[in-house]
Amino acid sequence: MSAPTRVTVGFLILQALLIALSGPTGHTLLVYGVVLAAALLALGVTLWRAQAESVRAVRWGWGCVAASLLLWCGGQAGNLWWEWGQGQLGVLNRAILLVFHLAAVPLLFLLARPGLEREPRQALLLDGAQALLLALSYYWWTWGTLDPANAHDAPAVATQLWLMDAQNLYLLLGSLVRWRAASPSAERNLYRVLSLHLAAYALAVALNNHLTSWRPDWVTPGWSSLITLPFLLLACLAWPGQAAADAQAPKPPRRRAHLVRSISPLMLSGTLMLLALLLIRVDYAWGVAGVLLAALSSAARGTLAQLQQRLASDSLRRQRQQLARIAWTDALTGIPNRHHLRHVLERLEQPDRRQPQPHHWTVLMIDIDHFKQLNDQQGHRQGDACLRQVAQALHNALARPGDLLVRYGGEEFLALMPNTAPPGAPRMAERLRAAVEALALAHPAAPGGRVTVSVGWASHTAGPPVDFDALITQADQALYRAKRDGRNRVAGAA
Ligand code: GH3
Ligand code: MG
Ligand code: MG
Repeated sequence: MSAPTRVTVGFLILQALLIALSGPTGHTLLVYGVVLAAALLALGVTLWRAQAESVRAVRWGWGCVAASLLLWCGGQAGNLWWEWGQGQLGVLNRAILLVFHLAAVPLLFLLARPGLEREPRQALLLDGAQALLLALSYYWWTWGTLDPANAHDAPAVATQLWLMDAQNLYLLLGSLVRWRAASPSAERNLYRVLSLHLAAYALAVALNNHLTSWRPDWVTPGWSSLITLPFLLLACLAWPGQAAADAQAPKPPRRRAHLVRSISPLMLSGTLMLLALLLIRVDYAWGVAGVLLAALSSAARGTLAQLQQRLASDSLRRQRQQLARIAWTDALTGIPNRHHLRHVLERLEQPDRRQPQPHHWTVLMIDIDHFKQLNDQQGHRQGDACLRQVAQALHNALARPGDLLVRYGGEEFLALMPNTAPPGAPRMAERLRAAVEALALAHPAAPGGRVTVSVGWASHTAGPPVDFDALITQADQALYRAKRDGRNRVAGAA
């Protein structure tokens, strides 16, 4: 038997023994004490769980559950005190009801969190203010509807009990939605445990409260001690170190997950609005103020969300541009690479009526002569330095802003030149060849003792459409001829 099961079973046996020993009708004070002990056990376990979690937002979530339990324990301690005073303290009766209502506030705050991501401070402040207002509205609701002079104001107390049911179901529904919309994770486990606890709690409270007020003779204190079960269930499920029960559950559809995360922040404003509307009957000014604040808060939340989204999409766009720049630039020489050329050619192959294509195109294929020997003799670092200098010289030698130079392969470059045709094409090829020769980079193994390039050129002069792949192949064949004819020269075809 695992540790949490041992503790739970032990608790239940002790509870049964105590109730059996206290006689057939039981002793209410004893039962209240046992229930308080179960809630305190759940509080201890959730605090422990909060400490054990590694994700900050989930730690925080368990903290909210613990805060709610702490308030609940406060209410139950009040019950004990009230029982001690034999129901003589009217004000205490209402304070107890208030504290039980307030236990919902930390849970509402938790259910209003959009997700695990860090939230802007303004959003947290706004939600904090709404939670506070919600607490004050509860206060006003309980104080406004119960007669302070009469602790046994039965109709008003019955209304409070129905309100409690509605509140429990509301929280359960919120938690269930979060559970079903979360991917298997520590966050999903939090909502799963909370949902199971809230379901058991809503059922136990409804049974206990309504049976007590409907047929008081049916509900012995022994039976009402069953309210320990939801807390023992919580303690058992929240116990740290257990494998998540639905870790294998399928991921929810992305749209549903995002929708729920987007709607969640409205949970607080929605509750506040609902309570404020109910309050209008009790106190008009207070109710209207609550409605206005809830409306303002949700509007501010919406604006904040839009602002966040705009900032995020702006930074995404900049990241995408930066990534494209990195992906399309050759890291060694800093000039565009073959992916960039592919992108440019794809765009050129799509006819654009607003921007008619040039009729003439020239492609130059440029290859460093005897580069392997340079690498072998002087090492790759020297080879790399040579590649960078050659790339720079070729780039500087290009005549027009529309000309594009890319690193096509190891020591091969390609120049794409719009509006260029013979006799300009061979002139440009010669200009690039001469520019590299003029660098006068030492190459002992080359016939002239310098680094040189061979250039093949090909031109298209027939107007659109242009078959760029064919043009590149022709330039490559011309380069092969230049190499075959002795290197450090140009060759071409129109
Ligand atoms: P050819 O005159 O016929 O063009 O002879 P070659 O030696 O230049 O041609 P080959 O294709 O045999 O060799 C190309 C060499 O380029 C082989 C490879 O080591 C070198 N190379 C390719 N990319 C790089 C690079 O990024 N840095 C360096 N240092 N060398 C590279
Ligand atoms: Mg080559
Ligand atoms: Mg070469």
